[in-house]
Amino acid sequence: MHDQQDSDGPGQDSQTFYNKLITSVPGILYTFWASADGSKQRFPYVSQRVNDWFGLEPEALQKSADGLFGIVHPDDLAGILESIQTSALDLTVWKHCARLKLTSGEYQWFEGYSVPERLSDGSILWYGQFHNIQQYKELEQTLRESEAEHSYQAAFQKLIADLSKEFINLHFGTIDECINELLKKIGQFFGVDRAYLFSFLDNYQYMTSTHEWVRPGSPPQIGSQQNVYIGGYPWWQEQIIGMVNDDKVVFVPDASVLPDLATGDRELLMRRGVCSMFVVPVKVRGRVTGFFGVDSLRQRRWREDQGDLLIVVSGLLSGVLERHNLEQKLLSQSIRDPLTGLHNRRYLMPRLYEMLGRAARNQETFAVAMFDIDHFKQINDSLGHLAGDYVLTEIAGILEQQTRGMDVVARFGGEEFVVAYSLEQSDDVGRMVARILQAVRDHNFRYESFPIEVTVSAGIAAVTDLPKIPSSPDPVIGKADRYLYLAKQAGRDCFVDASGTYRI
Ligand code: GH3
Ligand code: MG
Ligand code: MG
Repeated sequence: MHDQQDSDGPGQDSQTFYNKLITSVPGILYTFWASADGSKQRFPYVSQRVNDWFGLEPEALQKSADGLFGIVHPDDLAGILESIQTSALDLTVWKHCARLKLTSGEYQWFEGYSVPERLSDGSILWYGQFHNIQQYKELEQTLRESEAEHSYQAAFQKLIADLSKEFINLHFGTIDECINELLKKIGQFFGVDRAYLFSFLDNYQYMTSTHEWVRPGSPPQIGSQQNVYIGGYPWWQEQIIGMVNDDKVVFVPDASVLPDLATGDRELLMRRGVCSMFVVPVKVRGRVTGFFGVDSLRQRRWREDQGDLLIVVSGLLSGVLERHNLEQKLLSQSIRDPLTGLHNRRYLMPRLYEMLGRAARNQETFAVAMFDIDHFKQINDSLGHLAGDYVLTEIAGILEQQTRGMDVVARFGGEEFVVAYSLEQSDDVGRMVARILQAVRDHNFRYESFPIEVTVSAGIAAVTDLPKIPSSPDPVIGKADRYLYLAKQAGRDCFVDASGTYRI
């Protein structure tokens, strides 16, 4: 360069001009030289700023580049050396990022850019600059984190949406499967070892684990968590009060350092191998009926909003339980007689079809006994309808008492009852029905202190009484009804079956 006097040129003194130029560049300008065999490396020129930033003397770097390599972050050094080598071999632009140690001792990110030129002796000289990009790296990191957070939230939203959909399509009888599936998916999503649902019993005195998911390989707990008396765990009792009264989430970051009050609680958690846990209340119709929780069996970091996310899950569970309760209630209303609490005809018929199916497969046979109260009209007429209702309820109780769990007892009509008996070879239906007739006769019916004499008559038809197994239960019921009519004709308080009339 030669001096120019022009006002738009480098100025009177080119050294001053370049110094000004160099100091106005926010990075460090340099030339970097490497011998042909790469064994010697130095910075023939490097901006003074290298001293301000890294405490390195430009004069020293002019002799050897070691000083600068000495402040490269150990994890980044190999990458730098390799990139220099590539640039030297291919004579391609060198562009690289690495962390350098500032005079403060702190590492910050820098980006370098330089163009190589081969000299006549085979050595290479790069012309370039490097500058601080810490701010961009931090921004990038923040962006990456917020993107990760965003996709985590999105994945959580999707999980909840999928689970809600599953629950909406829930059919009767599959609630347990759905809850188990929910616990599994939530447990896996949060990377915990257990996820569980508990129910409180007897006004928060006891708790029972109703559903549980455990990570494959960890021992299930549900068996040992039935009807646990809460009074034995004072710390836990306190947490429950917080859950019930204030919707509090219980977070135990480290089970081994629970407060003094919690000796028993701590032992229990230790026995279960719990390292940390989160528990949130589950409500049905505004009342806390249980809790949902997750356990970690090892030290782990939890998200700051972990409690909030689990509250969303418990909200979903609450909704499911609430709906299920309602459905159960409606279902039971539709298949039970409100006066006696017995099943009604709507329930009986499909059960009879099932029994027919089993009989057709020769698995087991069945018989239907139809009962009718004798002179029931007289009871109504003399003592009133309420007395009649009372008698119906008492008889329902006797029928329940005198039958087995596998038999179906139903109120068939006004004062007619049906018992469908599942039979094995040795079963004697006549004897079972006779026992009922006897029990009714022996029962002390008393309405508003008036004693009432009550008897019933019955007709019994076994599916084997028919020439072949029918496709509908109607012929069996029809036959039992005809035998019942015969029992009435025979003077009541007796039963009739295919073999004749029986009196007790
Ligand atoms: P039988 O010995 O021939 O069976 O005589 P019965 O009086 O029992 O016969 P009937 O079929 O004539 O009478 C049935 C009565 O049952 C008529 C009806 O008012 C009464 N009844 C039907 N359902 C109810 C009910 O839910 N409550 C009351 N209190 N009575 C009912
Ligand atoms: Mg009748
Ligand atoms: Mg009657």
